[in-house]
Amino acid sequence: MINAHRLAHHLSVLAAIREADAPAHGTTRRAFTPAYLEGRQWLAARFAAAGLQVSIDAGGNLIGRLSGSDTTLPPIMIGSHSDTVMGGGSYDGALGVLGALEVAQTLNERGMRLRHPIEVVDFMAEESTPLGSLLGSTAMVAGLSDEHLARDVPGWGTLADALRRVGGDPAALKTPLRRAGDIKAYVEIHIEQGPRLERAGHALGAVTGIVGIRRADITCIGQPDHAGTASMDVRRDALAAVAQVITTAEHAALSRPGTVATVGALDVSPNQSNVIPGQVRFTVEMRSLDMHEVEAIWQEIYRAFDAACTQRQLSYTIHALHDSQPVVFAESMVATIDAACVAASGSSMRLPSGAGHDGSMIGLIAPAGMIFVRTLHGRSHCPEEYSAPADNLASVQALFETVRALDNG
Ligand SMILES: [Zn+2]
Repeated sequence: MINAHRLAHHLSVLAAIREADAPAHGTTRRAFTPAYLEGRQWLAARFAAAGLQVSIDAGGNLIGRLSGSDTTLPPIMIGSHSDTVMGGGSYDGALGVLGALEVAQTLNERGMRLRHPIEVVDFMAEESTPLGSLLGSTAMVAGLSDEHLARDVPGWGTLADALRRVGGDPAALKTPLRRAGDIKAYVEIHIEQGPRLERAGHALGAVTGIVGIRRADITCIGQPDHAGTASMDVRRDALAAVAQVITTAEHAALSRPGTVATVGALDVSPNQSNVIPGQVRFTVEMRSLDMHEVEAIWQEIYRAFDAACTQRQLSYTIHALHDSQPVVFAESMVATIDAACVAASGSSMRLPSGAGHDGSMIGLIAPAGMIFVRTLHGRSHCPEEYSAPADNLASVQALFETVRALDNG
């Protein structure tokens, strides 16, 4: 029923719209760039051709709307994002937007009028940019602060100017654009970007929620000394203490299924082979659907680090970089999506998302859910990113069934 050929064609056309001076491999279409605007122009034309009413809201989100038979009902929102990272793939975000378009277009072509309106959304600037991430969905549910809008990044300008370039209206963002009750539900197709579906042999999965993230920036201060003459018992080696953090983080997360912990950045000073490391600046990041688990891992890491510093007479400072709460999707949404995935592909599994998505923002004001699609070798944010046409088609069929179930429910 879904037009598989058109879906594949749309994916390949959008993938070819990319920044001219970006790496030759992969797709680069970062938010606010001319290529991004060109991609959105093409999308807007596809929305219109599908019979959708096209608009851009004050938060710069591109929306195609299909009216419902009951004008009192709020819309069912489906979509994703059309921006990419530098040197990214052709499916992250694009599949969700084009899959949602395919659902709306199929409904329209078949003359199937739902009770609820359908809104196909391309959320503005989902990926990380110097001006922020999840910008369109944040604007939609919370507005954007004057301070954030005035943020001026060399080469990018202010967020307010960037927003105007994509058709947004910064002055209208002092208050949220949508509130609880304004959206019936939000559903997004997205590639998994991890290996779990592939390993378990499922094309599709129902996402149970989006993990919370805690990230800290830590500086450990010891003393640089001669690596040959300072004996082991008098050393104040900052890197030796940080090594404890790395192994403790790994062990703590390994012993708690569903959690991850990473020391991703290390800046060693003076970073010379014959000098004892006098100072190390590093990051620790922990993710889980359960913030109690994050807290437990953090406590374990902190105790090991503090003891290692005391033993070596080191001092340290800790700055919180990021603390976001997990979003746990409602069981009714997960169950509806799970059933639709089974109907479309013969099987399904439930799994959390370790990456952030617009659904974590929309989930603050409406029931939200996601359909994950098997990703080759779990690779994403790279040119090798790939999800098979049959799996992509199944995900759109699952979204179609989910939308129909939500409309009836
Ligand atoms: Zn994405």
